[in-house]
Amino acid sequence: VTKHPKFQRDARFQALNDTHLKYFQTVLEDNAIKYDKDSESEELAPYNTDWFNLYRGSSSLVLFPKETSQVSSILKYCNDNHLAVVPQGGNTGVSGGATPVFDEVIINMSRMNRIRKIDTVSGIAVADAGVILESLDSAVSKNGYMVPLDLGAKGSCHIGGNVSTNAGGLRYLRYGSLHGSVLGLEVVLPDGTILENLSTLRKDNTGYDLKQLFIGAEGTLGIVTGVSILTPQRAKSTNIALIGLNSFEDIQKAFIQAKIDLSDILSAFEFWDKDCIEVVSEKMMPGVQFPIASEKPYEFYALLETQGSRREHDEAKLETYLTKLLESNVAQDGVVSQDIKQTKQLWAWREMIPEGITKYGPAITYDVSMDIPLLYKLVRDARAHFSEKNMLGADKDYVKLIGFGHVGDGNLHIMAATNRNDYKLQKELDEYVYSWASKNRGSISAEHGIGISKIQYLNYSKKQPVIDLMQRLKKQIDPNGIMNPYKIFG
Ligand code: FAD
Repeated sequence: VTKHPKFQRDARFQALNDTHLKYFQTVLEDNAIKYDKDSESEELAPYNTDWFNLYRGSSSLVLFPKETSQVSSILKYCNDNHLAVVPQGGNTGVSGGATPVFDEVIINMSRMNRIRKIDTVSGIAVADAGVILESLDSAVSKNGYMVPLDLGAKGSCHIGGNVSTNAGGLRYLRYGSLHGSVLGLEVVLPDGTILENLSTLRKDNTGYDLKQLFIGAEGTLGIVTGVSILTPQRAKSTNIALIGLNSFEDIQKAFIQAKIDLSDILSAFEFWDKDCIEVVSEKMMPGVQFPIASEKPYEFYALLETQGSRREHDEAKLETYLTKLLESNVAQDGVVSQDIKQTKQLWAWREMIPEGITKYGPAITYDVSMDIPLLYKLVRDARAHFSEKNMLGADKDYVKLIGFGHVGDGNLHIMAATNRNDYKLQKELDEYVYSWASKNRGSISAEHGIGISKIQYLNYSKKQPVIDLMQRLKKQIDPNGIMNPYKIFG
């Protein structure tokens, strides 16, 4: 595990002592406090370490509030006593934002997990921030709705974490950003003030839309305790097709055609390269036959999903589309799922890619966005660059380098597995990928956020006056800097 070498602990923050602990015991029940003065203890390890095992902090205290009022008391106390805190949701974030850097107090939201209200007419759901995304989706499904966000970590990530990272996910193409579907938030500010702004109105133009500030703020401005979200109608019919293609140019042609032929029902358009298949076959599904059998793998695969209200109508559209692709030689082969079991299996080949690559060694992940025609060029250029330096290959520094992502959103995930835990390796790839993205007018983070992993690179995507204003807002809302220090700005 890499300890970020850039920092010194900020001397403004107090170290935790018995008086602090005693105070927290007055706010929370004993079983809602995990304390061990040995921060390296096994019990604390899952909270001190990020999902990708890249960053580790040394906090000795995790608090599990159940009520907004408890979050408020905790934050007020931490602010008054200059104790730094890290809000933590499902800890599936990919930028190291949810784990402490030093000894920050971890405020874990997993016990704030009640669904407060579901409006069966409008589909608007109000939930505690710690509700797991999949649980929220399953709750609204009982009334025929769905959460407009879906991602591989849905069984662990929280809706509050999703909001705080402004997560994008697999259906962004159809349902758009949380900046649109989140209608209101309840947020506790560092001084303990509860901003109750849980609107369940679709339209509300009464002054500044402050909730937008907290969407994607990565826990640096306050703790999100409640979320009001508009959930769309759950589709009656979902269809999936997987196609094999020879080039990234063909993927773009297939995407354009999908927009023409499937516009009203298209809900996802994902792609991955052939190396991703190897990763999932070797590490996640050994012995399982890939659904498209061919002598040798195609260069690329794309997975399309349609969601509509009439199965026969949607299937006919998808079939016409696929026939067109095969006849025009854009796609080389394809399969359509026949039932829910097969649908899940097809999605699994996409969803298991990020976890699969972590099994080769410490993995580094990127989520850049740029103009769609340029997306895969970055992977090609990176492979050529690191091969030339003799750093890429089975027994080299970067064991594997793969590319996959959300075509429709112009969002590429480039991931590398390394052969050792070495911050220099991460830094070298960071520098390459972020400079490339910046030179090509892309964003260094399409959906994962800055966290700690990209702090030196914020200015690759944002101009200085923009960063200055962000910092002024941070100072105004969190003058003591206790909220998730060292993240976003460093
Ligand atoms: P955490 O990881 O716990 O926290 C993330 C950040 O939000 C941290 O900075 C934390 O301090 C802050 N935070 C958490 N909860 C709160 C709160 N209540 N109030 C204030 N701040 C808070 N992301 C995508 O966007 N798209 C994908 O397709 C996608 N796929 C993924 C697939 C896998 C297998 C994995 C492991 C991750 C994936 N992610 C994806 C990343 C991750 O799941 C998302 O960023 C998710 O939104 C994080 O939610 P979380 O509850 O785990 O938050």
